[in-house]
Amino acid sequence: MSRPNGALLDTLRAALGADSVLIGAEIGARYASDSSRQNACPPLAVLRPANGAAVAAALRVCHEHGQPVVVQGGLTGLAGGATPRGEEIALSTERLTGVESVDPDGGTLTVRAGTPLAVVHEAAARHGLQFALDLGARGSCSIGGNIATNAGGNRVIRYGMTRDLVLGLEVVLADGTVLSAMNTMMKNNTGYDLKQLFVGSEGTLGVVTRAVLRLHPAPRERLTAMLAIADFRSLVAVLREARIALGGQLGSFEALWSDYYEFSVEKSLHGARPFAQRHPLYALIELEALDPALDTGRLESLLERLLESGVAVDAVVARSLADSARLWRIRESAGELMAYVKPVAAYDISLPIDAMEHYLAELRRDAAPLLGEWPLFVFGHLGDGNLHIVASPRDAAALDRAVYGALAGIGSVSAEHGIGVLKRPHLGNSRTAGELEMMRRLKATLDPRNILNPGRVV
Ligand code: ZN
Repeated sequence: MSRPNGALLDTLRAALGADSVLIGAEIGARYASDSSRQNACPPLAVLRPANGAAVAAALRVCHEHGQPVVVQGGLTGLAGGATPRGEEIALSTERLTGVESVDPDGGTLTVRAGTPLAVVHEAAARHGLQFALDLGARGSCSIGGNIATNAGGNRVIRYGMTRDLVLGLEVVLADGTVLSAMNTMMKNNTGYDLKQLFVGSEGTLGVVTRAVLRLHPAPRERLTAMLAIADFRSLVAVLREARIALGGQLGSFEALWSDYYEFSVEKSLHGARPFAQRHPLYALIELEALDPALDTGRLESLLERLLESGVAVDAVVARSLADSARLWRIRESAGELMAYVKPVAAYDISLPIDAMEHYLAELRRDAAPLLGEWPLFVFGHLGDGNLHIVASPRDAAALDRAVYGALAGIGSVSAEHGIGVLKRPHLGNSRTAGELEMMRRLKATLDPRNILNPGRVV
């Protein structure tokens, strides 16, 4: 392993304190890659600043030395964005933790960037509120990483992406300048909304250190149901009916194709099957109940109508929190799947629902000769037009071309995971030349020495 120059390290130790700079054997294996686990590479050093001022000091030094920095949060990303490359120093937000305050009347929560998403959930829940961003990695992902990648997850259909849930940010720019934009107001129409520039910039424009988040009332209960469905047209009909019947209380609408469902039931539930028969498709619905008795009735009558009309073939309603958790585990086995299938390729694409059936049929045909022993595993957030695809390719580059080629002009190569390093060659598939040029100009303006997450996104 190569080492950064001694003068740089001495300056960083003086600026941050010696215990905030790890080198050599002190650097644990976890800093070598994000959850894509591709191209793992230990960083030259790990910086662990304990507050925003220390982040600013660290970046000021790295900017002066032209030292490239990779920003690391919970390392749950899947696009290779937080995996060190070449001669990079890692800047970890792992000590930048804690919920600073909750304003229940204003519906806001102020938090440091390294705080795990689950801790944000708990802090909001203590006030009868919720932070509506939710995803499978909630226990280990950091809110700063969620913001940097504009994470999506399971409740986008009702609450939008992370972008819609951030009111204010504190960001440290590449040269160490602290940009404070800790707005707490719902309405603030005073010029450019600078915080949005950093949401989804994947750490290429600045390092998020603090945030003001928007909270919503917590539902009294979450009612969960799973439906078995015979074909894609019926799946879309179920989505349409659920939207009409449940309105804004429809918190999640997730779709699972049978290969993914079968894997999950075997691996996560050890074969304890919700349905006796196998079906081509499944939908997982969550209703955010305000009046559990009334809302249970509404959900059950919706399911009855769907079964009577033949749009759904079978349905189960969770009768307890344990039931509900079991159904959600079927949906959230993606991590287990990705650890199990080797080699693994994961995609998260967006496309209009009316183009999905044709797209998947063509993809299955084109991908068949490129796959090893495993089928294409397909699942996702149907209401958001977002599909996750996991596969085990014999030819990864050819599978990339098959997945992304047919998306050109109709969809997006990343619905929620971001571009990072792994999808960078395909960014032009989803963005115009003019957009790419504007991104490069913003990057050059905010990070003229190209030290922040270089080689990611643009
Ligand atoms: Zn997702």
